[in-house]
Amino acid sequence: MKKEFELNYSLSVLKAAIEATVDGLLVTDRRGKVLCYNQLYVNMWPIPGELLAHARHQAILGYCAGQLRDPEQFLRSIEEIYATLAPESFNVFEFRNGRVFERCAKVKTLEGSDIVLVWSFRDITERRQGESYKAQLAAIVESSNDAIIVKDLNGIITGWNAAAEELFGYRSGEIIGSSILTLIPPDRLEEEDRIMNLVKSGKRTDHFETVRWGKGKKSIDVSVTISPVKDSAGNIIGASKIARDITQRKESQERIEYLAHYDLLTGLPNRALFTDRMRIAIENASRYAFRLALLFVDLDRFKLINDSLGHAIGDKLLKAVAERMQSTVRQADTVSRLGGDEFVVLLGRIHTATEAARVAEKLIAVLSQPYQIEQHELLLTASVGISIYPDSGKDVNSLMRNADVSMYSAKGQGRNRYQFYSEDLTSGADERLRLEYDLRSALARDEIFPVYQPQLELATGRVVGVEALMRWKHPERGLVSPASFIPVAEDSGLILSLGEHILRESCLQARQWHEQQGFEGTIAVNVSAVQFRQNDFTDVVLRALADSGLSPECLELELTESVVMHGVESATQKMCFLESRGIKLAIDDFGTGYSSLSYLRQFAIDRLKIDRSFVRDLPQDTDAKAIIRATVAMGRSLGLRVMAEGVETEGQAEYLRSVQCDESQGYLYARPMRPDDFEAWLKGRKPDFRGSRYQMAQS
Ligand code: C2E
Ligand code: MG
Ligand code: MG
Repeated sequence: MKKEFELNYSLSVLKAAIEATVDGLLVTDRRGKVLCYNQLYVNMWPIPGELLAHARHQAILGYCAGQLRDPEQFLRSIEEIYATLAPESFNVFEFRNGRVFERCAKVKTLEGSDIVLVWSFRDITERRQGESYKAQLAAIVESSNDAIIVKDLNGIITGWNAAAEELFGYRSGEIIGSSILTLIPPDRLEEEDRIMNLVKSGKRTDHFETVRWGKGKKSIDVSVTISPVKDSAGNIIGASKIARDITQRKESQERIEYLAHYDLLTGLPNRALFTDRMRIAIENASRYAFRLALLFVDLDRFKLINDSLGHAIGDKLLKAVAERMQSTVRQADTVSRLGGDEFVVLLGRIHTATEAARVAEKLIAVLSQPYQIEQHELLLTASVGISIYPDSGKDVNSLMRNADVSMYSAKGQGRNRYQFYSEDLTSGADERLRLEYDLRSALARDEIFPVYQPQLELATGRVVGVEALMRWKHPERGLVSPASFIPVAEDSGLILSLGEHILRESCLQARQWHEQQGFEGTIAVNVSAVQFRQNDFTDVVLRALADSGLSPECLELELTESVVMHGVESATQKMCFLESRGIKLAIDDFGTGYSSLSYLRQFAIDRLKIDRSFVRDLPQDTDAKAIIRATVAMGRSLGLRVMAEGVETEGQAEYLRSVQCDESQGYLYARPMRPDDFEAWLKGRKPDFRGSRYQMAQS
């Protein structure tokens, strides 16, 4: 009884042991009869109950093999074990659904020399996956574009991928086992210690920008992410570093930084940097009670050089100007280019305004020395406006504005000079700036148009021509006088488009009058010096003629004496060319510009227009009479027709007739008119016609 109990007891123990193993177990005899198995074995496959009831291994095997990728190989291996009874064998097989089992078979001899086979199966799917995951990870690390370095807690390098080889220049074979210090410049050691302390406390540091040494101590800008490396028990055993080369990004950042603060052309600080420095200078000056001077420097008529010689020459000239300015002021002063031909100079720490005046004089003198740019010798002058802190402004904006205003005033006084700020300057310059601003959009808004004033032969009263005069109908100010906006248009270059517009419009109008009104006279168009100096001026004129269909003899260009006298050679060339095309030329405002008649002889001129100021004082003023008599006589002797401008009274007309002046123009006959009014005037020819809505109020 006791024996039976003991037997039962040990059987239970065995059964418990079999059930408790981590493997699926099956025991068969040498012919395949199933002797015992555990539940795990049944579940693993799983094997249906009725099949187990059969209790023949071969039957079970047939069922099992059906689930495998390579059933034949599986069956063969087992057949072989039954055939050879090899004491121990081992293999791995895969299921069609991806699971992987490891099989072990052991042949055991029992006491009665019976043989049993113990089959154990283990599901190693996860272990397999882990292994392949590791392999994938290694491949990723190896092919990463970022350098990946692993080091232990002693700072010894234990891992080094291909990108690290590339970035630092060390092969993994030569660097693994070395200290990480090889890569760290001395001034970054402290930083490295700090980060390693973080690593030791389990923290990671992301995208930290620093410098590392490559082979040959070559500095490399890198962004590094450092994380702790743990063993399977979770203990920190080292650090991994992912480093990315940011040299290029650093460079472009520096470049952007530079562009944000410096002028590309001259290398001078730009407006942003300049105002920054000014702000700091103002703070210092207010703290230590000294003065600052702001000099606004504008090159006179720089635009002409740019337009006539091209931007490449213009740019070189600006560079030369920048260099001269820089070398004229002290190291501590800031020279900046605000854009175009506008420069500013900040004189830090002055005591009296005289010091600023001295610098301005020096700048003006230095800038007016001739420049040799390629084959051109160029002359330039500058106008300087000065504002002083705290006298003419206490903040950046007001100092800038007031220096700017003063500069305009210096220009207005004839350029090539300096002007200190004073309060009464503000209104004038503001006005001028506003005018220029509005003028920029005037053409597009159709606010610019010509009006026409007839020109008559004094002896017969015949209409020989009509002068086109520009008008600007400002949306708020109403009609703005050309006398006030043409200088602004000339300084800003806007005159080119405005002038061309009037020219084209006038040619079209004249052509129409020729065809529809039987009008036979010329159309006279005023030309600014700025327009005339353009290289393509003659092209512009020919194009206007061609596009309108007006014949060249019907166009007369009114030039002032200064246009003809300055830049004589190219002026002569242009005038001869225009004459050769049949276009007529007149000298406007004659008598105001000091040109001698004999000098004018060399130019191809058709008409002189005696300035209104001489006509005004007729017929009483003897000087005026003498001048007019002389002009008419000399004009006639040169074969020119002479016209008097601004004829307002019959008395003036009478005198002009008496000295045999050829033609006249003025309010006596008609004011400048819009085309409709001119047509009506032509038809009616009322001598007392007093004109039109488009006459400026004359002072
Ligand atoms: P300007 O060419 O000498 O034109 C004659 C000016 O005298 C015109 O002034 C005209 O309206 C005015 N006027 C005519 N008859 C009389 C008169 O009997 N009495 C008085 N007191 N004035 C008379 P406006 O139209 O104001 O033009 C002024 C100047 O503006 C012109 O002088 C001319 O130099 C310039 N200008 C006008 N239109 C243009 C243009 O299209 N292009 C250019 N570049 N300049 C122009
Ligand atoms: Mg004129
Ligand atoms: Mg005139």
